[in-house]
Amino acid sequence: MNSNPEVAPPVSVRGLSKSFGVGQNKVRALRDVSLDVSAGEHLAVIGPSGSGKSTLLHLIAGLTFADAGTVVVAGQDLADLGDHALTTFRRHHVGMVFQAYNLVPTLSVEDNLRLPLLLDRRQGPENGRVETLLRVLGLLDRQRHRPDQLSGGEQQRAAVGRAMITNPTVILADEPTGNLDSSSSRTLCELLHSLAREHGRTIITVTHDPAVAMWADRVMVLKDGRIVDTLRPSAFASPAELGARFLAVIAREEEAGACA
Ligand code: ADP
Repeated sequence: MNSNPEVAPPVSVRGLSKSFGVGQNKVRALRDVSLDVSAGEHLAVIGPSGSGKSTLLHLIAGLTFADAGTVVVAGQDLADLGDHALTTFRRHHVGMVFQAYNLVPTLSVEDNLRLPLLLDRRQGPENGRVETLLRVLGLLDRQRHRPDQLSGGEQQRAAVGRAMITNPTVILADEPTGNLDSSSSRTLCELLHSLAREHGRTIITVTHDPAVAMWADRVMVLKDGRIVDTLRPSAFASPAELGARFLAVIAREEEAGACA
């Protein structure tokens, strides 16, 4: 993690609020959310369905804009970028992993990984990174396969590789284990953990699953668009214990809401 207070964190969010709809249909998806993520940190954001997790991730990715507040990635306030500059910025600084993998079905694993480099017109030495990455991902023997020839876990590992290939400032993973069985889910969590711990990647994972959150350095609990608690997985003996605390936090907030 970055211990130098002079260096800006890779991701800094302040006072972020976002609503959808109008009038009686208005939904406040995020309310005054602030957070910093340090270099090499793996942050998990956990919350029930509809608590605003994906909205937060999309705002950090610059895929949508806030009603209030700021998102600063790699020192750049995203609101200061026009459409074209934002697209270029995202290509350089943000890698995304989705629940549904979103690989290009007609391309091999290797070419799926290479695609962001081609889009960014990066050639030559950067291409050497593909093989290194395939090894880290445990996909070297699958490099010529198409996505439909891979298991779900292998496809998701390829999607992580595609997100990493440009060496982005931050990798944003939206329910990355949502379509995986428990064994593939664990392998993916181990991969994300080692990418942060051993390769210094900065990662934000949103999930509703305590077993996934357990692999992060820090867990923020989101409820009704607000961060209501921060947990340290190292303080819990098991995912079940972390899950019990998560449910207790949610129950506490519901009780507080009912009394307000
Ligand atoms: P989560 O990822 O925690 O399930 P979301 O961020 O997807 O939560 O959604 C938070 C709230 O915002 C939910 O009530 C959801 O229905 C609403 N919401 C999200 N996106 C939209 C949208 N594009 N239009 C209308 N409502 C939305």
